[in-house]
Amino acid sequence: SKTSDKLSEFLESGVYRLEDSNAVFIDPVRVLNRSYTRFRVSPSAYYSRSFDSKHAGQEARVSSNFRKRKRKEKKPQPLNDRERAADQRHQEVRPFLLKAHESLVRATELLEVVSNLKGNLCPSTSSPGAEQSLVELGRVWQAPLYEITLNFHPNDNAREDGGAPTIQYCEQRAFPVFNNLVVNETSEDVEAELLNSRYILPPESSFYMSDLGQIHNLIPAESDCGFNLIVIDPPWENGSARQKQRYSTLPNRYFLSLPVKQICHTDGALVALWVTNREKLRGFVEKELFPAWGVKYVATFFWLKVKADGSLISDLDLFHHRPYECLLLGLVHGKVTDSKQLSSTKPILPDNQIILSIPGGYSRKPPIAGLLHEYAPRLQRGRCIELFAREMTAGWISWGNEPLHFQESRNFMKT
Ligand code: SAM
Repeated sequence: SKTSDKLSEFLESGVYRLEDSNAVFIDPVRVLNRSYTRFRVSPSAYYSRSFDSKHAGQEARVSSNFRKRKRKEKKPQPLNDRERAADQRHQEVRPFLLKAHESLVRATELLEVVSNLKGNLCPSTSSPGAEQSLVELGRVWQAPLYEITLNFHPNDNAREDGGAPTIQYCEQRAFPVFNNLVVNETSEDVEAELLNSRYILPPESSFYMSDLGQIHNLIPAESDCGFNLIVIDPPWENGSARQKQRYSTLPNRYFLSLPVKQICHTDGALVALWVTNREKLRGFVEKELFPAWGVKYVATFFWLKVKADGSLISDLDLFHHRPYECLLLGLVHGKVTDSKQLSSTKPILPDNQIILSIPGGYSRKPPIAGLLHEYAPRLQRGRCIELFAREMTAGWISWGNEPLHFQESRNFMKT
């Protein structure tokens, strides 16, 4: 039947297009695993925090206490200008979010699979031990001396003639790990070692691990080698001091000098920027940041966060704890190609697209590379890059001060 075709496609791809709405549900683990060849992302590592019932319970308690206290102490205050603008933004997208969520609730065959995700999780078998702080490692004076060793496994096709079994050998190559482009050019996963930790690098992926001060090294020597798809998830400063940070943040003015214009392909690029729900930040991006980068705003996608039972992670209308985040999309127009020509060769970027998923641990964003690909300018030698990345993606370059973070082998299983 039609529905089970959709479900089997989801089991294969991790993507389920929801009926009657501009929405897709994705299972990040399945999406990521499409590109690994010798390893699998471990669901228990990916979902560790969201399925930890103790943690989830605590969070629910805290927020309900918070609401009760608010209700008692404060009479409803008139909204100030900025709050009114934020509320208006929310009211505009609210119908789309509700419709997307209703479609998910109606997709019972999908929800059945998703709710079983928790039951299928085996206890994490990864070895305990503190994870390596790449950010701190990069700050010590020895940083330029640290090397990462890549273990390449050349294809063993010498046995085809039925001759004696060849010895499984492995080619090891070491590269400086900081301020250097480290490339897995093979079409297989590669295991890598850095000090006492192991990392898994997906096929045809690269990383450049450095502080913001070195980002100019990403500017291509020839401008037709630039990037046509750029995803950016900056370490925005967060208003509330109560929210604990897993990484250091930077003031907005630092992002104005990101060389977005300089790394774009001369024929144009699609830029996707994750933002928080703070109204002040939205104003900054629209009025200052996008203009400084030469980006023309086109559309907004929304990431709606759900639990394994399909319910939203928090009330849709909670003012300071929205269950969604925004991805702003803009285009940098190319020098030679005019915009008419561009739009005739690729689908028009739709506004208000909704991506639903169960959030992973540590405020990790869902993998959207595949969803964005079809909207990027089609170029012969187009390349993709993620800025401020904490993980690697097949076919992409990841830049940031900890792009290997989620590549640590504890997050993977061997197939
Ligand atoms: N998109 C990522 C994910 O889904 O996991 C999250 C990125 S997080 C919002 C921002 C990242 O920027 C963090 O990894 C942080 O360590 C990094 N960062 C902060 N300050 C930096 C700096 N000065 N130079 C380079 N990276 C920095």
